Amino acid sequence: MKLPIVCSQCMKDDIENAMPIAAVEFRDDGRYEVACPKGHRAIVFLQQQKFEILFDIGAYAIADGYHREAVSSFTASLERFYEFFIRALMLQKSIDPEVIDAAWRTVAAQSERQLGAFTLLYTLEFGRPPQLLSGPRIAFRNDVVHKGRIPTRPEALEYGQAILEVVRPILRDAQERFPDGIQKMVSRHLSQSHTAADLGQPAATLWITTIISLSVVDASHHSRSLEQAVAGLRRRPA
Ligand SMILES: [Zn+2]
Repeated sequence: MKLPIVCSQCMKDDIENAMPIAAVEFRDDGRYEVACPKGHRAIVFLQQQKFEILFDIGAYAIADGYHREAVSSFTASLERFYEFFIRALMLQKSIDPEVIDAAWRTVAAQSERQLGAFTLLYTLEFGRPPQLLSGPRIAFRNDVVHKGRIPTRPEALEYGQAILEVVRPILRDAQERFPDGIQKMVSRHLSQSHTAADLGQPAATLWITTIISLSVVDASHHSRSLEQAVAGLRRRPA
């Protein structure tokens, strides 16, 4: 799975004919810098959040036959989604970002603590506990991630589908209840991808359609099964 990069200067010069100049590996910091053949320096920031990208990486892993890796990426996507939810909720309530960072550090190293924080904050906000991953799915995940179990394709699909069914309704709840917090998360994610040297440089924000998506409005996109989504993945240029 690679990300096609278009040069922002070439796009400015001739938007009709600007073509991707490179296909790059996904990066943790969301910042992509590529030398354009026309001599420009192309800096691109990917808008999508970590949980959106990680879920797509899992789907591509299934498409490529790496089912253990798919389970691992789906799990990471869910964990980062819980973090996103918690941070967006706190930003909505006007908690200072540095204060949120300081609080997060106390749970950062342990996903069980993060799950506890998520469960209670969700319940506080919505007056009911969230629908979480079921016990058998958690046992399956632990077998795969910690005990080296090699899942089949149907097992990986079923697990990813279960994650989708956990994330989608909670994401809808969050978008309805704290849209400003979510918008602040998106802005903060983009500004954190910038290095000091990027200020004042021409740069572009890149937006891709992911299976779990904060940005796609079309309802049918959010009711597609994982299997349908995997079947529809377009192979990006190598
Ligand atoms: Zn260029």
